[in-house]
Amino acid sequence: MFIRFILSNRPPPNHNLLFDDNMMQKTPLILDIKGNSLDDGPGIRTVVFFKGCPLSCVWCHNPESKKAGAEISFDKTECVGCDTCIQSCPENALDRKNPFFIDRAQCTLCGVCVENCPSGALSMVGKTMRIEDIVAMAAKDKPFYKNSNGGVTLSGGEPTLFMDFLSDLLKHLKDEGIHTLVETCGLFEFQQFEKKILPYIDTIYYDIKIHDPDAHKQFCGVKNDLILKNFIKLNAISAENGLELLARTPLIPNITATDKNLNQIAGFLKTLKIRQARLLAYNPLWHEKNEKIGTQNSFQNNKDMTTWIPKEKLETYRSIFTEKGIHTG
Ligand code: SF4
Ligand code: SF4
Repeated sequence: MFIRFILSNRPPPNHNLLFDDNMMQKTPLILDIKGNSLDDGPGIRTVVFFKGCPLSCVWCHNPESKKAGAEISFDKTECVGCDTCIQSCPENALDRKNPFFIDRAQCTLCGVCVENCPSGALSMVGKTMRIEDIVAMAAKDKPFYKNSNGGVTLSGGEPTLFMDFLSDLLKHLKDEGIHTLVETCGLFEFQQFEKKILPYIDTIYYDIKIHDPDAHKQFCGVKNDLILKNFIKLNAISAENGLELLARTPLIPNITATDKNLNQIAGFLKTLKIRQARLLAYNPLWHEKNEKIGTQNSFQNNKDMTTWIPKEKLETYRSIFTEKGIHTG
């Protein structure tokens, strides 16, 4: 019953984004650029978040990164109730009787309400940026990278959806002598990745969320055969040329964080002679983001999904990997 409830409320996967030539050429929207991060790779880092993802994970911690296009976000806690936006919207898309405030079928993303909002409660999610400007922002923190062995992390969404843009960006960052790390879901065309991305990457953080292909399709919208194949190829390259490759599994209660799934993933990594992986702690606070962009939170009444995973359980999950000779610290 739990699973059926989730599936009835989930958005459709973004199949139209998969390997679309136009998409690979297209300039992506950037969600955010965050400096001084200590959580997204070694040292002090600048993190560039791309908008758009080919997966549709039911637990996505960044729901605003799923769609490649722009969106309006409404944060009701910032709203001062002036109604300027309602009066200025040319499409009459704003209505307090609407539980999400914005009728997204009516909204043309003209941005008038955002410009007129005095409190910042309304904002446009996603903006185009020139590669030179991203690099200039990142380069300002070079002294911090140098002192901490940090650099720039390209995250999402899924940055490899935009292979050409990503390739140019990485090239420019390497020209500046900056360490580069890409976080990926692994769903990409390997030949393109090998040619356009690999030459400019120092480190890859690679998500392996669910091992069983049917369960992967059920909870992430697509099967994982290509994801696992790509990982195997990258692992072989990593063994040859020193590319740093780290497999990561987000711990999502009852979905990825099950003994069966973690045993399967640990077994898969063991067959590849991998000795290091990472388990990503579950953060139940992601739920609040859905409402801002008008999407439903499928888990709001599910106790397991709205609380932190107890420490003892985390230790049990870690031990599944440790028993197979894989460190997750
Ligand atoms: S972006 Fe434009 S159409 Fe959409 S709600 Fe705001 S003012 Fe209305
Ligand atoms: S303009 Fe901004 S502060 Fe005023 S009602 Fe609209 S969202 Fe709220």
